[in-house]
Amino acid sequence: MTPISKNFTLEEMISSATAMDNHIDNTPSAEALANLQLLVDKVLQPVRDLYGKPIHVNSGYRSVKLNKEVRGAVNSQHIQGRAADISVGGRVANKALFDLIRGSGIAFDQLIDEYDYRWVHVSYRESGNRGMVLHLK
Ligand SMILES: [Zn+2]
Repeated sequence: MTPISKNFTLEEMISSATAMDNHIDNTPSAEALANLQLLVDKVLQPVRDLYGKPIHVNSGYRSVKLNKEVRGAVNSQHIQGRAADISVGGRVANKALFDLIRGSGIAFDQLIDEYDYRWVHVSYRESGNRGMVLHLK
C-alpha cells in the first residue's frame, strides 16, 4: 500500500475490478499521477477530514481503454486523473456527502450527483475550477 495522504492510498485511486477482469493496464502517467495527488490533497482529504468517516473511492484514474470499457464519457476527467467517484453507503448518505461538499467552500471543478446519488463524482484541476454542480439522471 502506498499512502498518498492521511486517509487515501494510490491503490484505491487506480484500482479497478473491470481493469483486472479485462487485463487492462491502468497505470497512470506521471501527469495523471500528479493530477491524482492534487485531487486528493485539494478535495478528497479535505472532504474526508470534514466528513470524519471513511469515504470509498469507486473509481479514480481510468486509462483510455478502461474508460471505454466502463462507457465513460470520451472527455472524462477520470482519464486525466482529475476525477473520482466516491460513495459512503446508500443514497441518503451519499446525498448528505454531496451537500456537505457543495456547502464546504472546498474548491472543485465539477460535483455531480450520479443517478440519484448512487455515487458522487467530484473533479479538480490545478486552475480554472468551475464549481459546477450537476445532477445526472
Ligand atoms: Zn465520475
